[in-house]
Amino acid sequence: AKATGRNALELYDPQLQAVVRARAKLASDIRAGLADGQFELFYQPQVEECSVRSCEALLRWRHPCDGYISPAVFIPLAEETGLILPLGEWVLQAACKQLASWARQPRLAHLTLAVNVSPRQFRQAGFVAQVLAALANAGAQPHRLKLELTEGLLLDNVEDTIEKMEELKAHGVGFALDDFGTGYSSLSYLKRLPLDQLKIDQSFVRDVLTDANDAAIARTIVALGTSLGLQVIAEGVETEEQRQFLLAHNCHAWQGYLLSPPVSAERFATLPLTYTAH
Ligand code: C2E
Ligand code: CA
Ligand code: CA
Ligand code: CA
Repeated sequence: AKATGRNALELYDPQLQAVVRARAKLASDIRAGLADGQFELFYQPQVEECSVRSCEALLRWRHPCDGYISPAVFIPLAEETGLILPLGEWVLQAACKQLASWARQPRLAHLTLAVNVSPRQFRQAGFVAQVLAALANAGAQPHRLKLELTEGLLLDNVEDTIEKMEELKAHGVGFALDDFGTGYSSLSYLKRLPLDQLKIDQSFVRDVLTDANDAAIARTIVALGTSLGLQVIAEGVETEEQRQFLLAHNCHAWQGYLLSPPVSAERFATLPLTYTAH
């Protein structure tokens, strides 16, 4: 049996077969869902000095049978199968349309929108053109768009990453480094990337009041980002005490359930645009 190799063995393992089938179904459901308009962007406000100046677009999938499916489940599979390319393009187009719509509403016209970009999406050859086309087709302003990249991009092709970032930056597009501290970032690359913002991952924010190591990491990220001239924003802020801690350590920007979870565009338009401590 060994001589027939790994694939043959997998075929006879009913559990593995079930997993493979489930993944194949999920992949074809993503494809169908895109064609059928089942994806939607939600928006989470980001606060600076107590006012909402920006927000993050977070993808939501309303599956007709299985209900709401978390991006934590389908984004990794979309990455593996390459479906992240059409999905990511849809996200960029939807985000730019939303930006253009906000630009026509005086109350929301000041907002910047942060969009998550997966490494595979960013690495594709036509990425810069795709972003510029999404902006132009929607009639959105490039300086209102910020792209959130992850440290995975720093593992290879750093020159290509920098070149693409510089090109988009020349048009006014901003960049944030997401999940900072959870990956393999090299501090020397960090210095070379044309970033605007570092995001403190929510895994460090969660126990910032009770875990001395998390507190030290959060403070270090703020100090590092600030010394590199970057804005530092904390994600996953759920309590006023966490916000106070971050503020006391010079982190003035945050997002989290303390103000609002990600909500539909419709709900977002009804949210308060200031944060009042309670
Ligand atoms: P992320 O970019 O790190 O997004 C932050 C996640 O934390 C979001 O989960 C958000 O809903 C959640 N969150 C926000 N505030 C709080 C809080 O106060 N407490 C807690 N516990 N969680 C909070 P979500 O929306 O489920 O997204 C999960 C991940 O999926 C994202 O992590 C991102 O990596 C990925 N993702 C989401 N949308 C997109 C997209 O359009 N494109 C790509 N490539 N990835 C996306
Ligand atoms: Ca993000
Ligand atoms: Ca994050
Ligand atoms: Ca994350």
